[in-house]
Amino acid sequence: MNNHHQTDVLVIGSGPAGALMANLLARRGVDVVLAEKGLDFERNFRGETIAARSVLTLRELGFGPSLEEHGFVELEGISFREKGQSIMSMDYRRFPIDALPIDIPQPAMIGAFNRQSVTFPNFRLLMGHQFTGLIERDGKVAGARLEDPDGKPLEIGARLVIAADGRFSAVRKASGLKAKITPMERDFVWFKLPRPEGWLHESQLVVKKDRHLVILPTFPDLLRIGYNVPKKGFGDARRQGIEAFRASVIDLDPRLADLVNTHIQSWNDTSFLEIFTAEVDQWSRDGLLLIGDASHTATPILGQGVNLALQDTIYFAPVIAEALKQSIGPVPAATLEPTAALRRKHKAMVTHFQRLQEANLAKSSAVGTMLRRAKLRLLNLNPGKYRLLDKVLNAPHDMPVEVLHGKAA
Ligand SMILES: Cc1cc2nc3c(=O)[nH]c(=O)nc-3n(C[C@H](O)[C@H](O)[C@H](O)COP(=O)(O)OP(=O)(O)OC[C@H]3O[C@@H](n4cnc5c(N)ncnc54)[C@H](O)[C@@H]3O)c2cc1C
Repeated sequence: MNNHHQTDVLVIGSGPAGALMANLLARRGVDVVLAEKGLDFERNFRGETIAARSVLTLRELGFGPSLEEHGFVELEGISFREKGQSIMSMDYRRFPIDALPIDIPQPAMIGAFNRQSVTFPNFRLLMGHQFTGLIERDGKVAGARLEDPDGKPLEIGARLVIAADGRFSAVRKASGLKAKITPMERDFVWFKLPRPEGWLHESQLVVKKDRHLVILPTFPDLLRIGYNVPKKGFGDARRQGIEAFRASVIDLDPRLADLVNTHIQSWNDTSFLEIFTAEVDQWSRDGLLLIGDASHTATPILGQGVNLALQDTIYFAPVIAEALKQSIGPVPAATLEPTAALRRKHKAMVTHFQRLQEANLAKSSAVGTMLRRAKLRLLNLNPGKYRLLDKVLNAPHDMPVEVLHGKAA
């Protein structure tokens, strides 16, 4: 590619949000460049859970066969365990939605999007290209500067730059759009273990006072486990050594003792995730839009990060295609903000629920944990629990059919 290029839309970041957005725009005939700083899509310990709503969406968009061909784990339920017992459980098959959440590695899903995208002559994928700055004209965003894999600068002029570069978005920082970052009380250490024979395809939250493990069945035959540490406590955990870490995990869930002792040999077998939420009141400027984690970073509770990212693209793609037709020059922020407001509402509902859960999980006193157990036992007996969780897990429920179908299929 020359060191200057012009396109309709430049998408920065080929995660779930950027790759699907570029695909949906390319289907609509929009000239798209997708720039990804990585040289491949290998990424361990990312959101691998696709919520049921997004599974339906991806099937509608025709990605069902690619996902089937790769294979995935269907998640059949979720349970909350304390003192070796299930206190509250839910069977995902009882939700009023015609799909189960699935676990599939991100490279498989992103690969499916990009494999189709490259068949469109109006799509271009630039791997190993890092965003370095925005190009602005008259206070409007008019493109971006990138660096190619050899470190050579490249300018891409675009009528819309889409920031899909994740939770630490460099594009967001360069744009001046402000994010409110709220750290959660705890961070996470992730690791993977083989899934024991006979283990159900259910997600588990294993709790002891204010410590917990999130255990997720993971493709193909693994468990992905998140262990919570106090904020910025990973340094302390490392100083205490891997032996102490193993002991602490086993203390929480003795069922994992043999697996942890065999498979967690060093810190290289783990991955650290800082937990925070990022809220951005304004997602667009003239010529610029934030989507996915760049516009709203959620916590891992209930595995909604990928869902939120994918749903952003479904809502925005038809609006962007129309705005490109109806205007000249940079896409006006005013055409994007009504959709951003809808998406913020969905995200705010998820964040609110996640914060309640965080507060619940942070209880450490005898009275606090007793009350938590009592509340969960009561909820478990109430069939209304499916209605309550459906609102969060399977949102959005009010997706206009034309948003999904549009001219996408
Ligand atoms: C360790 C970890 C564990 C997680 N666990 C869960 C979980 O259990 N459940 C859940 O739902 N979510 C989880 N998440 C969050 C989930 O992965 C994200 O919500 C989801 O991937 C967001 O998609 P995205 O496309 O917005 O951003 P990302 O997936 O972060 O993709 C951003 C892309 O932009 C690229 N990029 C970044 N900077 C630049 C740049 N300057 N130039 C060019 N490209 C750039 C990156 O390489 C990446 O490919 C986890 C995240 C992490 C990091």
